[in-house]
Amino acid sequence: MIRATVDLDGRVVLVIGRLDRSRRALARYRAAGAQVVCLEAPAAEAFLADGEDGRGSSPDALAWVEGDEAIRARLATIARARRIMLLRDEPILPTPRGHVTLVGGGPGDAELMTLAGLRALADADVVLHDRLGPSHVIGAYAPGAEIVDVGKTPGHHAVPQAEIERLMLAAASRGQRVVRLKGGDPFVFGRGGEEVVACRAAGVPVTVVSGVTSAIAVPAAAGIPVTQRDVARAFTVISGHTPLGEDELAHLVGLGGTIVVLMGVATLPHLSAGLRRHGMRADMPLAVLEKGFSAEQRAHATTLEGVVALLANERPSSPAIIVIGDVVGSIGPVDADEALGAAHNGSAPDHLLRLVADVSP
Ligand code: SAH
Repeated sequence: MIRATVDLDGRVVLVIGRLDRSRRALARYRAAGAQVVCLEAPAAEAFLADGEDGRGSSPDALAWVEGDEAIRARLATIARARRIMLLRDEPILPTPRGHVTLVGGGPGDAELMTLAGLRALADADVVLHDRLGPSHVIGAYAPGAEIVDVGKTPGHHAVPQAEIERLMLAAASRGQRVVRLKGGDPFVFGRGGEEVVACRAAGVPVTVVSGVTSAIAVPAAAGIPVTQRDVARAFTVISGHTPLGEDELAHLVGLGGTIVVLMGVATLPHLSAGLRRHGMRADMPLAVLEKGFSAEQRAHATTLEGVVALLANERPSSPAIIVIGDVVGSIGPVDADEALGAAHNGSAPDHLLRLVADVSP
């Protein structure tokens, strides 16, 4: 449930429950700027009870994790009488059952995460994340979690897929809530399908939270709509990881519309030559959009026949999105600095941190 935002900055929150079971709640309220006290229910009642001067301690808010029901009712009465906020109920399941949530983290901008993704992070015990996506804000969004970078190790080698799946399933089997955070959308070239299959095979419950895919968001941020009335009525998203076959090239050219290529910088000479060979116009607009939503973002616009010169002169590098079609430049100049610059931000915005404190289940 998403509630209206409560500003806890500088407020005193009394979390009621055993310390080890209240860890997530404590982290969440601390992240929202609160001063947090954690007491088991009887001690909390003593803390709030009227002393000899007739006045008990009055925190600004109470958050109930667990404890005796009778005490809980008495504390609720005290809270109402003293206008102490009652924040939420967080019942603890007797045997926590681990699960995996595959979360699409979007193309790298902290604001392009979904609310469901924020909620999963806020509630996570372990986050396994890739190189792409909003990795710079995971610590802020997942204050109670162990964060594991599986995108690269110090030697810059990615953790093999089998090892990622092993880590993910091992944590879930221990009863932990695992978030597998991916760049963009988990099911767009993200190996998300394989990870769902691995979870199902191991009997681990798994859910998928869709994300904003770079295939659409990076072009959009550079001023390119992937479809546009009277310009393109289809867009095809392809992987350039391995070169396309002749049949695929022929079908792509025949279909028309916009072509969006992911992982395609290395194979771009092969792709552009193949599209030309199958009849695509030499002056078809083409854009290469590097490292969208980061400080190193660059956008280059050229044409199909200009690709070789562009690659030689600008040497674009991964990650990059390539857009081929008349939508490039159709609503204005392709420009990373103006459009992407506005969207970029380097840290977790305060209002999102408050939201994290507020959306967690
Ligand atoms: N699941 C992801 C794509 C994973 S494949 C998604 O939906 O966005 C990885 C490729 O995505 C990269 O090689 C690059 O082509 C593209 N990509 C992802 N994020 C990007 C970004 N911020 N800027 C440019 N390209 C990006």
